[in-house]
Amino acid sequence: IGDPFKQAVPVLELIENAGFEAYFVGGSVRDHILGREISDVDIATSALPEELKEIFPKTNDVGIEHGTILVHYYGGHYEITTFRSEENYSDFRRPDKVSFIRSLKEDLQRRDFTMNAMAMDKDGNIIDPFAGKEAIKNKQIATVGNPDERFGEDALRMLRAVRFQSQLSFSIEKSTLESLAAQCHLLENIAVERKTVEFEKLLMGTGRREAVQLLSESGMIRFLPGLKEHADAVKRFSSQLTENFELIESWVLLVFELGLKDNEVEDFLRQWKLPVSKIKRINRVHSLLLNRLEKDWDMERVYKAGLEDAICAEIVYSSLQKISCSTDKIKGLHDRLPIKHRKELNVTGNDVMSWMDKPPGPWLRLILEEIERSVITGAVPNEKEKIKKWLSAFNQKSGKN
Ligand code: ATP
Ligand code: MG
Repeated sequence: IGDPFKQAVPVLELIENAGFEAYFVGGSVRDHILGREISDVDIATSALPEELKEIFPKTNDVGIEHGTILVHYYGGHYEITTFRSEENYSDFRRPDKVSFIRSLKEDLQRRDFTMNAMAMDKDGNIIDPFAGKEAIKNKQIATVGNPDERFGEDALRMLRAVRFQSQLSFSIEKSTLESLAAQCHLLENIAVERKTVEFEKLLMGTGRREAVQLLSESGMIRFLPGLKEHADAVKRFSSQLTENFELIESWVLLVFELGLKDNEVEDFLRQWKLPVSKIKRINRVHSLLLNRLEKDWDMERVYKAGLEDAICAEIVYSSLQKISCSTDKIKGLHDRLPIKHRKELNVTGNDVMSWMDKPPGPWLRLILEEIERSVITGAVPNEKEKIKKWLSAFNQKSGKN
């Protein structure tokens, strides 16, 4: 078994030595079987949170109401969750209806998909009561038990199914797939934030095109923010999505395909409850994309956009134009810029006021912008004395007009 597991084996041993069961579970076991890189290992145990706290001196109550605590052990930290079920045959019940149980199999049974419902013991033996291994071999996503029931319990699982389809390039098993279409209205009950998390993961997966297509074919798209009436736009979006897109580019493309006006963009993105800084960035890059469709880059435009946003817009542009993306030109223009930012300008507002012997006012900003533009385009070097001379010539000229 791989490194992240090896490091955590002593954690399992400590729990077992105290008389309880403990296993690796969930995504880490799935990814291990798939040969994918494993980020964090989740552990499930028959021990109750209070019993774990007696075994490990350093813990945090990250989700104790659901039976999850974070255990710190030799520099590592592990989420350990008490076996639980959502039904009633329990040792005892919590007010929020989570029931702690002592049986691994029942814990696995409440999990979403068969590939996520396996456990592994400290020696690497796989416990697989729902044929998760087989599903992985066939690259299939299937719910544990009846899909209508399982999606009825928690509608987010529908989006998780499509998200996993994208991340793993798996397909969704037939009855699970049919249930997506039948039950998609239940997504109405799910908090936007949770939808957004799954949607963004889906957009980053290798099967992103097929996944977005499925969202629209299954009707799920109608229950995602701002997409209700836009099946056609979403179809175009899925066909334009490419593997080299990061999240920002995907959002920009979506906004573009929706044909949103400037003032509608923010509104749409707000519905997804994205952070303000991200909304602003998507908005900026979207505007740059629209400009790019009108005309090519030049030094001034690259300067104003900033290198990163310009490249972002170019990536989306070349995907739309079906041309291979070269950011060399933008980088070249940016390299040749005498200054990359206003703060590198070698004159200040105070310089200009003293040269012209005038009090501050709206004129000052206009002049500074003129200086900035002239430095960027190379009309004047970025040196104080030269700018001073250039400015007096400029003033004479504009005085005459
Ligand atoms: P990732 O690689 O994205 O972390 P994961 O499978 O580990 O994928 P998590 O959200 O971390 O997904 O959940 C861990 C495990 O908890 C899952 O593998 C699954 O067994 C179970 N699980 C998570 N969410 C649900 C849910 N909504 N319904 C049922 N089981 C769930
Ligand atoms: Mg996980």
